[in-house]
Amino acid sequence: MIIKSVCNLDCIKCFDLLKYKFKGYLLNTSIKPISNGNFYSTSTEKSYKTGLTVYDSGVRKKVEFCTVLPKTVLWYCCGPTVYDSAHLGHACSFMHFDIIRRIMEHYFGLNVIMVMNITDIDDKIINKANELQQPCQRISHHYEKEFFEDMHKLNILPPSITARVTDNIPEILDFINGIMDNGLAYATSDGSIYFNLGKYSGYGKFSPKQESDSSQQSKLGSEDFALWKSSKSGEPFWESPWGKGRPGWHIECSTIACKYLGHSIDIHSGGIDLKFPHHENEEAQCCARFGIPKWVNYWMHTGHLFSKGAEKMSKSLKNTVSIRDFLNSYTANVLRIFCLLIPYRNGVELRKETLDKAFAMERTISQFLLDLESIIREGKKVNFDEQLLFKFRFSMKQKRKL
Ligand SMILES: [Zn+2]
Repeated sequence: MIIKSVCNLDCIKCFDLLKYKFKGYLLNTSIKPISNGNFYSTSTEKSYKTGLTVYDSGVRKKVEFCTVLPKTVLWYCCGPTVYDSAHLGHACSFMHFDIIRRIMEHYFGLNVIMVMNITDIDDKIINKANELQQPCQRISHHYEKEFFEDMHKLNILPPSITARVTDNIPEILDFINGIMDNGLAYATSDGSIYFNLGKYSGYGKFSPKQESDSSQQSKLGSEDFALWKSSKSGEPFWESPWGKGRPGWHIECSTIACKYLGHSIDIHSGGIDLKFPHHENEEAQCCARFGIPKWVNYWMHTGHLFSKGAEKMSKSLKNTVSIRDFLNSYTANVLRIFCLLIPYRNGVELRKETLDKAFAMERTISQFLLDLESIIREGKKVNFDEQLLFKFRFSMKQKRKL
């Protein structure tokens, strides 16, 4: 499978994609192309009503959904860390967002521009590479390819733009420099850069406290988090004004999201476990970088998939079901119906009874379509809108092909 949407530094594909997706809104003065082909939305107002309400997990209630641009949703979704196969917990999260995105696009005619990062440098990737004695890039490319193949098998739409961390190091350095220029980050003696929570008053939108990290004694505050990590022996590194190192985790999402969507975005989504500290830190970085009180207008977080009872499905607990194993027993549509049976914010246990229910519903819908096809084929006279039925049948056939 060729991943067409992965961005490289010249952003030509993204440029074309954005031009297509914006459908003329490039002429709007709130979108300003800059020299290297990226776009920044200079508007910070969410001023266009959509008629929808959404649950914003930032304010923990349903609110009116208004967008920064007309008929357009600027959406950033945290992507995978590509060090291992994606499991069903990941699949359910991306499936929920796919359902919401399709509803916005197909039923409400909104133009969704979804940007997703690929974390292709990280402690877990380095550990796996060391374990297998392979280069980090080989590990990350393998699991990135597998991730998109799995998403394709699940009929989950690809993001409008996908960007790897390692393709965006200059932008990340520029972003860190911007925070430092605003006096909200500092360098330590080993060449790492930390966000200075002592000088930032907007922290605590999701939680007032961050876990203390006492291993970094050179930090000014124990809760300050890394924007740039100085390299350790044997680790991949990039040159920076502070020496050899690599990005911290949170900075990649702030940089990539702002690069493509600007400094005011409509939706930011991810699993509930990303809410704190990852999303709190992303928000702090962007507000510090641009001197704004708010970066994301609506936060969406999906609940956990539980393997058994209250045990979250996760790699560390070794209780995961791979997407490929699941698809050996069920179809992608069964998983979609399974996700539709539970509100996306709720945690859900992967129970056979619920899967059987989803399976039965999928069979009912498929049988209904087969019956309709047979009625049409036999030319029976029935009272219904044939044109509408034809459109519905065609659309379902397309889906079944995937
Ligand atoms: Zn993220």
